[in-house]
Amino acid sequence: MAIQLKDVHFCYPEAPNKTVLCIKNWSVPEQEHVFIHGPSGSGKSTLLNLLSGMLRATQGEVSVLGQRLDQLSNRQRDKFRANHIGYIFQQFNLIPYLNPIDNIRLANRFSGGKTIASDVDNRIETLLATFNIPPSEWQKPVARLSIGQQQRIAITRAMINKPELLIADEPTSSLDPDNRDNFMTKLMSLAKEHRITLLFVSHDMSLSHYFDRIAPLSEINSAGASR
Ligand code: ADP
Ligand code: MG
Repeated sequence: MAIQLKDVHFCYPEAPNKTVLCIKNWSVPEQEHVFIHGPSGSGKSTLLNLLSGMLRATQGEVSVLGQRLDQLSNRQRDKFRANHIGYIFQQFNLIPYLNPIDNIRLANRFSGGKTIASDVDNRIETLLATFNIPPSEWQKPVARLSIGQQQRIAITRAMINKPELLIADEPTSSLDPDNRDNFMTKLMSLAKEHRITLLFVSHDMSLSHYFDRIAPLSEINSAGASR
């Protein structure tokens, strides 16, 4: 299994009396592509942050790629994430004044930079070309590129460390329909080619046909049931 959760509870330390996640049992096999949806505030981003190790479960077992994240320190989880997980955020979180190549190099450096710099640069250039970012854009600050281009750079960045698990939190919400379809096609073919497990959160049910499994958050998380 790529993901296995058992008796997981999560409350934010700022609101210890409000259980945001209560998950008895949930697993995702390797290489499955899962579409998670649910109303705003139901805990989708919290779940993804738990799986990427940005948050730690208040209680319970969180196994990701065979590693118990709940047993790791913050620092160990950061390292695990950098080495194994690609993350695409709704707002991309690119550094606006850096060019595409420097944004992606930075993500590689966070992983401990195991790879030789020139190999990384070759991979970056190949990925940027795959995602139709022409070389004329490679030296510009990303803030000057279009939203669709920034989003494709964000996938490139998520892929640079060859993750086994890719997590995407509403990555298409600022894209127009053409860019959205283009983004989805590229994302899915990349995930398939590299045998990546994919967890994808969106409000947009019209994207669900790209996925092996559709999971309403309410089926995974019983914390919202009484609200
Ligand atoms: P979704 O992604 O489904 O919209 P979230 O996971 O962002 O939902 O939020 C789930 C619940 O946790 C919401 O009630 C939200 O207000 C609360 N929440 C989110 N982030 C924090 C935080 N940093 N501190 C306290 N509560 C939070
Ligand atoms: Mg969210």
